[in-house]
Amino acid sequence: MYCVKCGVRLNEDVRQCPLCATPVWNPDTPGQPEPAWSDRFPAPPKNIRYPILAFITILLLAVCLSTMIFCLTQLGGVRWSGYVMLGCALVYFSMIFPFWFEKRYPLIFVPLFFALTCGYLLYICLYNRGHWFLPFAFPVVMITGAIATIGVALFRFGKRARLLKAGALLIVIGCSTMLIEFFQHITFDTPMFTWSLYSTSAFFLMGLFLLLSGLIPPWREYLERTFFL
Ligand SMILES: [Zn+2]
Repeated sequence: MYCVKCGVRLNEDVRQCPLCATPVWNPDTPGQPEPAWSDRFPAPPKNIRYPILAFITILLLAVCLSTMIFCLTQLGGVRWSGYVMLGCALVYFSMIFPFWFEKRYPLIFVPLFFALTCGYLLYICLYNRGHWFLPFAFPVVMITGAIATIGVALFRFGKRARLLKAGALLIVIGCSTMLIEFFQHITFDTPMFTWSLYSTSAFFLMGLFLLLSGLIPPWREYLERTFFL
């Protein structure tokens, strides 16, 4: 037996260390005082994530099924239950489903969100016999989805040159608003350049500022220190 504090070898029957006077606790000797440490360990935290996820899944499935059955039996078709089901799918796969996984997979779920949005808009367009899906909604969602996915990929993989990446991304977003107004123009026959020039120039100026910041080392270091980049 050894002293826990100074490490000196102890006789079996001592109650305290002869060298440093630290009390000795021998589990084999009866009548010892209570040990100084607890024999109880903190309970591991309960993981209530999966029950909550399962509950929300069942709830949304029940909502989808009941509206579909109602529409099929009462209205003789899928009808407006398509809105409910696709809306539930959109909410589920963008906000609930990713949490089933231990890791986050934004490069899968961000494009999936935009694909589902496309499907939802297509249903709304077809249901209302609109003509705006293919020339307007589809390209706009695809552009937004592509920019969002590229942004996620740029910032998730590689921590270097963040200011340059952010600047370039802002300029691309600015140019895309002009493209969006172009699709609005050819679909709804609205005049061109009523709003997109403002957004494009604002994004362009912000992007240019970040690009220049990334290219001038002292200024970049100052920004990185100040904003913890
Ligand atoms: Zn000791």
